[in-house]
Amino acid sequence: MQLLKDRIMKDGTVRPGNILKVDSFLNHQMDIDLFNEIGKEFYRRFADCPITKIITVEASGIGIACITAQYFHVPVIFAKKSLTLNLDGDLYTTKVDSFTHKKTYNVVLSKKFLTPEDHVLLIDDFLANGCALQGLIDIVQKAGAVLEGAGIVIEKGFQDGGRRIRDMGVRLESLCIIDTMTEDALTFR
Ligand code: 5GP
Repeated sequence: MQLLKDRIMKDGTVRPGNILKVDSFLNHQMDIDLFNEIGKEFYRRFADCPITKIITVEASGIGIACITAQYFHVPVIFAKKSLTLNLDGDLYTTKVDSFTHKKTYNVVLSKKFLTPEDHVLLIDDFLANGCALQGLIDIVQKAGAVLEGAGIVIEKGFQDGGRRIRDMGVRLESLCIIDTMTEDALTFR
């Protein structure tokens, strides 16, 4: 998606530890005109799928998922990150290693919102090692719902997540894939 690539080149900054900072338009301050184009593009790519729910993980996936859902006219569920272990029986739960926070979270989603009748599109801002997405896939599988695919805004192609998720047979659509990233230069696939 050229608009997104141009914006990353203009406003993104690379931080030590392979972190791309896009907080001026994507995951702190949010450019809603750009989000609308992102939502439209996800809709175009998954228009052939009978999506009934969009699932993301808090916090930075929520805005993108909500705008995308306006095109699919379906509800958004965001999986909640919880550091506690006192979970009750009405939750799907899985563990996610956070790339940015170097922590392991329990990620939970209420069973009443996801059933075997659902066809799910997963949405997230970044794909790095694939842990967040794998956690969401695990929840969809536990619910017995149909995973239609995953939409990612920025895939860091030099990390392993994209290959791992595609190898699982998941239809993964990334709006841009970064091939190389240093503090002075960034290239796209
Ligand atoms: P993964 O689980 O694929 O390793 O990492 C994905 C999650 O980590 C995303 O939900 C995102 O919030 C965060 N993340 C991974 N890499 C980056 C990055 O380069 N920049 C930012 N801002 N977040 C990232």
